[in-house]
Amino acid sequence: MDHFLYRDGALYAEDVPVAEIAATVGTPFYLYSTATLLRHYRLFDEALKGTEHLVCYAMKAAGNQAIIKTLAEAGAGMDVVSEGEYRRARAAGVPGDKIVFSGVGKTAQEMRTALLGGIRQFNVESEPEMLLLDQVAQSLGTVAPITVRVNPDVDAQTHAKIATGKSENKFGIPIARAREVYAQAAALPGLQVVGIDVHIGSQLTRLEPFRQAYQKVAELTEALRADGHDIRRLDLGGGLGIPYTRSNEAPPLPTEYGQLIKEVLGDLGCEIEIEPGRLIAGNAGILVSSVIYVKAGEGRDFLILDAAMNDLIRPAMYEAWHDIVPLVEPAAGVEQRPYDIVGPVCETGDTFARDRMMPPLAAGDLVAFRSAGAYGAVMASEYNARPLVPEVLVKGDQFAVIRRRPTFDELINRDTIPAWL
Ligand SMILES: *Cc1c(COP(=O)(O)O)cnc(C)c1O
Repeated sequence: MDHFLYRDGALYAEDVPVAEIAATVGTPFYLYSTATLLRHYRLFDEALKGTEHLVCYAMKAAGNQAIIKTLAEAGAGMDVVSEGEYRRARAAGVPGDKIVFSGVGKTAQEMRTALLGGIRQFNVESEPEMLLLDQVAQSLGTVAPITVRVNPDVDAQTHAKIATGKSENKFGIPIARAREVYAQAAALPGLQVVGIDVHIGSQLTRLEPFRQAYQKVAELTEALRADGHDIRRLDLGGGLGIPYTRSNEAPPLPTEYGQLIKEVLGDLGCEIEIEPGRLIAGNAGILVSSVIYVKAGEGRDFLILDAAMNDLIRPAMYEAWHDIVPLVEPAAGVEQRPYDIVGPVCETGDTFARDRMMPPLAAGDLVAFRSAGAYGAVMASEYNARPLVPEVLVKGDQFAVIRRRPTFDELINRDTIPAWL
């Protein structure tokens, strides 16, 4: 459920007509709903009620500081994957002890920043990283709390580009080698083992892969405890999928996911961390765009929008489906027709949808891409010298631009022409 609904024939974001925001901000822009973000965070929080837990929002899904602050004030921690994300989270007011640091390629500089600024734990992904973190922590006279990310060799049954839990993926250490690696970690004075980490992929639409991975984590917990390690925290990653269309099979709900966690891991007495990104932000955001032209092609009509693949790359990168709806609610019984919906960028890949059934649209009409809140704005670029798409946040009857559209001068002046040229 989200808070982008038709009311009196017009699409609203909570209590604000989306067309009103478009008139103020111009298109294209991303628009987020505070109520939807909070609703999704609370679904997870409640799903784990009765177990000590922290929901660490994976801010790579949508990292605007206004979004981070909204979730952090509701109690969320953050999962960061870079120094930039760490700094953004701190700038938005998240305390270091609620930030977990994930990622396969953490640099010494990133480790230093997090150790000095405060960190809940590093999720270590390899032995070389473990050795470096030990050195960096020792050089600062401190001890780094760590989990080791294990790769459980489980098929997440999702798009190959977002599956991370098979042995051929670059993530984590093979679970079969975990005991050896934990023994090594325990011997390093700059590290303190606090738990185990796992994350098997994104947009999972079944619980079964989670169950398989978490069962392996449960077994490993027992084995590591028997080896004398203090395993008190289990970071179970993110990955729960969302419905991208109203017609496809509904993925499991956070409640069911929470039930599964309690069932498989509840008896271990561990604090549970989860790192959902997509499920919190995905359906809490839309991308609003205008039709520039309707172009008649051979056997098809093209709807040429002012949003492009540089603003929303998911269809080009993952063959992703987004529902696209007009801001003016189509009259009941209006006959739909197929369109190829494309952006203005000079790539054939700049195609959002083919043969998409839509009510008749004309130049100047506004449309919204639904479910665009996660892996939308954060993956945007300025390809084709298109200014970075702005972001807007709605809360009740108020809205604010939370990242403005850069001017052309800003975009152009970032380049430096050398004096010798
Ligand atoms: C991307 C990522 C997440 C979030 O995944 P979602 O599918 O957005 O929930 C969580 N943890 C790690 C380590 C990730 O890389």
